[in-house]
Parts: sequence; structure tokens; C-alpha cells
Amino acid sequence: MNPKKQIVDLPVYQPGKPIDEVKRELGLEKIVKLASNENPFGCSPLVKPAVQSVLDELAIYPDGGSMALREEMASFLGVPGSQLVFGNGSDELVMLTSRAYLETGTNTVMATPTFPVYKTTATIEGAEVIEVPLKDGVHDLEAMLGSITEQTRVVWVCNPNNPSGTMNDQEQILAFLERVPSSVLVVLDEAYYEYVTDSSYPESISLLKTFPNVLILRTFSKIYGLAGLRIGYGIASEEIVDKINRVREPFNTSSIAQKAAIVALKDQEFVKSCREANEVGRNQLYAGFEEMGLSYYPSQGNFVLVDTGRNGNDVFQALLRKGYIVRSGVALGFPSSIRVTVGSQEQNEGFLTALREVL
Ligand SMILES: *Cc1c(COP(=O)(O)O)cnc(C)c1O
Repeated sequence: MNPKKQIVDLPVYQPGKPIDEVKRELGLEKIVKLASNENPFGCSPLVKPAVQSVLDELAIYPDGGSMALREEMASFLGVPGSQLVFGNGSDELVMLTSRAYLETGTNTVMATPTFPVYKTTATIEGAEVIEVPLKDGVHDLEAMLGSITEQTRVVWVCNPNNPSGTMNDQEQILAFLERVPSSVLVVLDEAYYEYVTDSSYPESISLLKTFPNVLILRTFSKIYGLAGLRIGYGIASEEIVDKINRVREPFNTSSIAQKAAIVALKDQEFVKSCREANEVGRNQLYAGFEEMGLSYYPSQGNFVLVDTGRNGNDVFQALLRKGYIVRSGVALGFPSSIRVTVGSQEQNEGFLTALREVL
């Protein structure tokens, strides 16, 4: 059998081991997972009773147009519903963007290291991937501009960037958009939007009026705590939404996910409390790292990339034996670092103690 030639060498995503398996293997009672930037506080308490009602309608296909969610989201964001598109996680929207805009003979520009799904999906479509190194952990937008060619169709800006946690501010993004050719789609991946506390962070939605070539991606997986349900959304001009809809499966988001997102969106108190706890948690981690003499990138997300001065895989393994699952920086492009999700105060404290023992 002959698959598409560009997929033959694609790395297969290595999912983290299930917590129960790690417990059994290592004989541990308690495992704390700080590896996938999940919300340590779960989701809004409104979600569980709300999705209960959907359980009586499981024989019915979901609303392929996500009308109820679209309406809620449109009024929450202050944009027309026609400028929204929903995905099975924002991961799916990354894939659909690549599917709609990239093909052999085109190229796409992104930072490195950044979120790996941009490269994977672009490669599957046969596009050339142009990677521009981060500068001091931040997207080098000048260099990215300089890498755009006649064949460039999509530029990806992960803001805040996963895995470095750094961000580009309003001024930088504006100056960048003003110089990107209007024929090039710029994707602003804002998966950690709600965690940002820096007031110079871009007001991206207000940029859409001036820049119809911008697609903003956000998700319910991170601060809303609904990663298991898979729902994310894009905000863009009708033209872009139309193109993504053409390649989208008709029933790509489930009825449970749609319902959960509607009620989760209404609970902005929960979002606010998570953002505040996360900021306290980031500072707690920074203080611990500084005490250990470790350098880190100040983060606007719910994770911190810290340089341990050792091989990230070794530190990962040693922490695992103490019951803490983090992400090794080796596969993330930062070989001597680990990326740790900000947990609850108690989880952060336990992690810092374990790290101190390990180093
Ligand atoms: C987690 C994450 C996403 C997407 O998550 P979904 O669960 O697919 O919505 C997208 N972009 C970045 C940078 C992320 O870290």
C-alpha cells in the first residue's frame, strides 16, 4: 500500500501514559499530572448538570451549525455569528486551516519551537514549512516577515507561545499585520488567551476589522477546563469562515461539547478565579525556581518552561518517580528544560519540593 509520501516520516504523537498505569508501574499512591496544561480546578460546576439533559438525546445528531453556542459566543465576543467557526478542539481548526489553504507548491511560516500541530498538518497537505527561530523565547516577527515569499499562504503566530509561554504585544502584532501581504492568512493561536494578565496583550478581535486576513483561534480546553470534550472556535472574516466550513465535517462538534461550552461561557466568575489562581501559581513557581538558581521564561499561560541545566528527559524521569508528570523539553526543542503546568498551590509546592530533591 502506498500512503501519501509526505506522511511516511511524520512522527506519531506520543500520548502521556495514563495516570493509573504510571501508578501501578512505579508503585505510587498519588500522581500529579502537570504535563498537558489542563486546568487543575476542573471546569465550571454549571457544566455537569447542564450536559445531563443532553444525555437523553444521544440518538440525535448534533446541530452542525452550533446555532445556540454560536449565538451565545457572538454576543459574548461582540462579533456577528457569521464570523465564528467551531472545531473539535482548536487542534481541528488548525488542521482545517491547513486543509483549506495549503497544498504542494505553497509554503507556510511559523516559529520554532512552537505548537507542533501547525507543522504536522501543513506537512500532510504537502506544503513547505519555513521555521523561524524564536528570539529570546519570543516570536521573531521581523524575521518571520522576512521569510514570507510569493508562495506563502499561512503564517502562524502562537500567542502566548507554547512551549515558551511568552507573548507578542499589541504594538508588535499591529506592526506585523500592517506589513504582511493581505493575501496571506495570519493565524493568531490564542489558546491561553484567558490566562494572560499582561495589559499590553493584543486586542485581537478589534484588529479583524482592519485585517480581514486574520484568523483567531481559541479553545474551551484550557481555562474552561473542557479538554476532554474537544471544543474550540475560530473568529475571522466571513470569507475565511466560509473556506473553513467547506472542508469541515458537518457534525464536527458533539452535542455534549456544544452544551458544555454554552454554560461554561456563562460562568465568567470561574474563569476569573482560575486566572487569578494561575497568576499566583506562576509566581509561586518563579519564586521556587529563583531559589534554586534556575532560569525560566516569564509566562502568560498556565505553564512555565524552566531550564534545569540537565537533560530534560532525565529530569522528567526523576520527577515521575516522585509522582509528578511534567513535559520534558527534549521533544519541545528545549533539551535542558522541562515544561510544567501551573497546578493548585499544593501541587505547585509538591512539585517544587520534588524538583529540589531531583536536582
Ligand atoms: C492546547 C493548545 C491548543 C488546542 O487545544 P484543543 O484542545 O485542541 O482546543 C491549541 N494551541 C495551543 C498553542 C495549545 O497549547
